[in-house]
Amino acid sequence: MAQSNQTPLDRALSLIADVPDYPKPGILFKDITPLLADGIGFGVVIDEFARSIRSLNKKVDAIVGIESRGFILGGAIAKALQIGFVTVRKPGKLPRDVYRKEYALEYGFDALELHKDLLDPSDNVIIVDDVLATGGTALACHDLVEITGAKVIAHLFMLEIEFLQGRKTIGNTHSDVGIISLLKA
Ligand code: AMP
Repeated sequence: MAQSNQTPLDRALSLIADVPDYPKPGILFKDITPLLADGIGFGVVIDEFARSIRSLNKKVDAIVGIESRGFILGGAIAKALQIGFVTVRKPGKLPRDVYRKEYALEYGFDALELHKDLLDPSDNVIIVDDVLATGGTALACHDLVEITGAKVIAHLFMLEIEFLQGRKTIGNTHSDVGIISLLKA
């Protein structure tokens, strides 16, 4: 019988669905919900994220997840590593004092917020999101974390859309940070 060379990680990542022209014409949306719905696939991906973080051989105090799919991945990774999880949210969602970072979108601005008392200068963190596209969101999150004095060790993504050059955008201002993606498209 023919053997497949597909690893469990390859199989898991192959569950990400391409959705053309969503949410607007010309965008190829990478939908991770079929992967999340697959119990084995989800577990394999979280194990791989945890392995990547351990292999950095650095003290990591918290996972920072970007709303909203970064919460799903980041929460599971934090649990696997037995470290804390910190939420970075869209404006107006957090109830206590926040730091805020605005960033440019194709048209207009958006912002991310972080509760002021969750991180301090002794913390090393990893930032997690599902997709790296232009890098604007990850860069804003990085800058937001640095307001607290905490250090960003690495960014983790399930998927990187290479032609949008988000890796370069983050690296231009943070050349020492690790950028890890499980799949490049
Ligand atoms: P960017 O700031 O351009 O790197 O965009 C990253 C954020 O937007 C992440 O939170 C992603 O979830 C989302 N995103 C951007 N482009 C896509 C895409 N093609 N498919 C799925 N999510 C995307």
